Amino acid sequence: MTTAVFPGSFDPLTNGHLDLITRASKIFDHVIVAVGQNTAKRGVFTPAERVAFITTSTQDLDNVSVQIESGLTVDFLRGNHATVLIRGLRNSTDFEFEQGIAGMNRSLAPEIETVFLNADPQYQFVSSSLLKEVAQFGGDLSALVPPAVAQGLRDRLERD
Ligand code: ADP
Repeated sequence: MTTAVFPGSFDPLTNGHLDLITRASKIFDHVIVAVGQNTAKRGVFTPAERVAFITTSTQDLDNVSVQIESGLTVDFLRGNHATVLIRGLRNSTDFEFEQGIAGMNRSLAPEIETVFLNADPQYQFVSSSLLKEVAQFGGDLSALVPPAVAQGLRDRLERD
């Protein structure tokens, strides 16, 4: 039984993330999506809101669960008996950045293997930060985010 963890900010979940979660769920017995608090990025949605988007959008995937993570990602994996860390690669910038993290994690926890999944070309340009910018100006994002997230972004726009 192999448990994989897909950590990220997911602020908010996009169809690019969802594509990776779906693909990972076919490879591994159990996939835990770990919503982290990235200190360098200010969150638009609270961790609980992000978890709710992911839970709703993955309800058809039986072997996927969602948790909030704080602390070291490798400690989270160990605590959940997970041996695989999943990350997505969209371009060479992601690659450079991810190489450093994977190297650090390997040094901290050699028993954990980082597995990279290539972004689907149709979502290669999709990032949570770009989406938030487009949403702010009323752009239609329905093709790029799950329905619950599109609604959440509209609600946020009306509120703020
Ligand atoms: P982080 O702040 O940890 O980078 P993100 O939520 O931005 O968190 O991304 C989480 C993971 O999902 C990262 O590995 C990132 O490369 C990947 N990812 C983000 N957007 C996409 C996409 N459109 N297609 C595939 N993978 C993606």
